[in-house]
Amino acid sequence: MSDHPIFNDEHRAIRKTIHEFVIKELAPHAEEWEEAEGFPNEVFKRLGELGFLGLHYPEKYGGQGGDYLCGVILAEELQHCRSGGVTMGIGVQTDMVCPLLHKVGSEDIKQRYLVPALRGELIGCLCITEPDAGSDVASIRTTAQPDGAHYIINGAKTFITNGVRADFAVVVARAPGSTSYKGITLFIVDKGTPGFIVSRKLNKVGMRSSDTAELIFQDCRVPAKNILGQEGQGFYHIMWELQPERLYGAVSSVAGAQIALDEAVKYVKERTQFGRPISKFQAIRHRLAQLATEIEAARQLTYYVAGKINAGEFPGKEISMAKFFATRVAHRVADEALQFHGGYGYMMDYPIQRFWRDSRLARIGGGTDEIMLEIISRQMDL
Ligand SMILES: Cc1cc2nc3c(=O)[nH]c(=O)nc-3n(C[C@H](O)[C@H](O)[C@H](O)COP(=O)(O)OP(=O)(O)OC[C@H]3O[C@@H](n4cnc5c(N)ncnc54)[C@H](O)[C@@H]3O)c2cc1C
Repeated sequence: MSDHPIFNDEHRAIRKTIHEFVIKELAPHAEEWEEAEGFPNEVFKRLGELGFLGLHYPEKYGGQGGDYLCGVILAEELQHCRSGGVTMGIGVQTDMVCPLLHKVGSEDIKQRYLVPALRGELIGCLCITEPDAGSDVASIRTTAQPDGAHYIINGAKTFITNGVRADFAVVVARAPGSTSYKGITLFIVDKGTPGFIVSRKLNKVGMRSSDTAELIFQDCRVPAKNILGQEGQGFYHIMWELQPERLYGAVSSVAGAQIALDEAVKYVKERTQFGRPISKFQAIRHRLAQLATEIEAARQLTYYVAGKINAGEFPGKEISMAKFFATRVAHRVADEALQFHGGYGYMMDYPIQRFWRDSRLARIGGGTDEIMLEIISRQMDL
């Protein structure tokens, strides 16, 4: 478990409660959910029941009224279930969909979607990416044509986490004929709306307990009251949303890296070669020490940024730095930890392979390494 001056006694108590829950109710099912390629929807309900989905949302909407750091703690502790797909599936709800509903949703939308989402009764997904528009969000092609008190949505989205199971989708679409970031609006589309089609569940390298979908919107008629935020301001809403999403990625990566390192330390103390535990070889000890140092550096940066967000700031450059650095450290740690396991590390029987597969995604999702560097470099007056 992590401790740091940004956390107070209340945070520590919340961490302990979540940790115990994860170890008792989630971790024992990790293997089964990985095999089944999906954790059950009941996990959302259970987390909602316990108040964990709404830790940093106002009590008025069924949240716990805690601060942002409570959400950071949830992201870290969920990693102890050792199935990255669970952390990601829940994170999409708590740190991608709900922040938007809360920040830009009308009171009506908050009542219809945020309140049940925090209870875990409705599951949401966020549909930005398209087959031909990934890093370049402003180039999305999905359109929303006004039609009286409705809009008709047409387009395709891909790589959508929770897309198969979602009860509602937040869809990024543009006014027909609009270009670039102008004319982009967010719409909430309910499951079951004619023309909202889950065309495919995607087969992934890692994060296998999460569902990732390809979705099609075909003449999908959505009422104007389901516009999320301001019409034409969707691009800015998404640019804001990406900030908490990126920090969630950074925070969960650091937590995952620590677990992978702990796993490696345990293994090297047990494994004997050349008549001694392999932990006694300097080549291994020094690499472990280096990885521990890198994790600590990533943790400090991540907590520094989390403290800023907690204070109401969204420092884009530092958030990108934290995501870039922490996610790379996490994958390097997982790779080295697998190496320390030798051939056993490459076997599916050992959990370390899953950290290696799962940790790779965070360098892509929510903005790639290259996009993070682009954001940072733009603020360097080059
Ligand atoms: C498992 C998974 C879950 C996901 N979940 C969601 C989700 O829930 N909702 C959602 O909307 N999306 C989701 N995504 C999509 C994710 O956000 C995108 O994959 C990511 O933003 C990159 O887009 P892309 O895959 O189209 O790659 P591209 O944008 O095509 O990039 C390809 C390569 O080119 C590089 N590149 C692109 N532009 C530049 C540039 N300007 N300078 C330098 N290099 C550049 C990229 O860094 C990358 O290395 C998910 C993806 C995965 C794999």
